[in-house]
Amino acid sequence: MKISLLLTLILLPVGMVYSQKPNQENTVTSRSYDHLIPSNPQQIRTSPAAKNIILLIGDGMGLSQISSAFYFKESLPHFARFNNIGLMKTSSTVRITDSAAGATAFSAGKKTYNGAIGVDSDTVSISTIVEILSNEKWKTGVISTSSITHATPACFYAHVKSRGMEEEIAAQLSNSEIDFIAGGGLGFFDDSTRSDGKDYLQTLKNNGFTLQTEQLSATVDPNKKYAYLLASEHLPPVIEGRGDFLPQATKLALNYLSTGSENFFLMAEGSMIDWGGHGNNADFLVSEMIDFDEAIGIALDFAEKDGNTLVIVTADHETGGFTLAAGENYNEIKTTFSTGSHSTTLIPVAAYGPGSELFRGIYENTEIFHKMMQAVSITAK
Ligand SMILES: [Zn+2]
Repeated sequence: MKISLLLTLILLPVGMVYSQKPNQENTVTSRSYDHLIPSNPQQIRTSPAAKNIILLIGDGMGLSQISSAFYFKESLPHFARFNNIGLMKTSSTVRITDSAAGATAFSAGKKTYNGAIGVDSDTVSISTIVEILSNEKWKTGVISTSSITHATPACFYAHVKSRGMEEEIAAQLSNSEIDFIAGGGLGFFDDSTRSDGKDYLQTLKNNGFTLQTEQLSATVDPNKKYAYLLASEHLPPVIEGRGDFLPQATKLALNYLSTGSENFFLMAEGSMIDWGGHGNNADFLVSEMIDFDEAIGIALDFAEKDGNTLVIVTADHETGGFTLAAGENYNEIKTTFSTGSHSTTLIPVAAYGPGSELFRGIYENTEIFHKMMQAVSITAK
């Protein structure tokens, strides 16, 4: 190991000479520094155990996306309220992750292949945080602006080989221990649109869910379970009239989950920051980013009052190679993109509340799972 490192150092100047040759493709073969980042930095928790966790995932949200809220939101972004900030490496079993492998890292603590939903690299199901905490009698909720069966939310309750298996994901959700869901995806449950003609809306009802397909309700009964499926597939983007669904669903979920004495876990995803990146559409991206920031504000308001709630905000990966570059002059910001795909830039992690000190430092995406477990003092079985 030491010898190879030494060799690398000796050979480095030679490599640099070669790299000065014209490089038409303008790509570099990166050197791996993975071994330099400890897989588990073993942070010590200095605060009491968290009673509740709110995990907010901004799909495709890198540092430039977060920065855009500081330049384009009319008020100070809620991101400014965090003191504990870390950076996370997002690779899956390959260098650049998709949302499925990224969310499986968060929900189950294992690196897996792109497309995997709650399964490891041998397609074996792995327990998710929602399942582990449900076994401990925690209440749980999952919210997304896309279909609730889409990759990121699915990884918290389902186990399938491929993210495209959304009908099977819907079937698994109907029979899961989750207490509150809000998002799109009605068509994957409905017998008139499913390829097998099975009625999983009825299964949801049979399993105690109050089903709403029109809008969020004004009040919730803590003794019931709720399924808000408000679009056949995805909800519309903010620029096409979604309104304040994400912050309002977050507020409603927190009202519901915090009534009673049980601990709770809530995951809410701003799914479409990623889509603005894929489409290289800055207006789309920034409007989704600002909407997500409003949901962060709701979570932080709750956590500040409650005092026992850990809030974590992060992303599965960056999308678009988004940049806030100088425009015509240095007083003008020009939004640019370097790709229509994902990038592998390190991703910020912001944390607030008991256990938030664990999220400082630089670590792998799988550590999000382990740090959440450490924050609530539960050992994954
Ligand atoms: Zn994406």
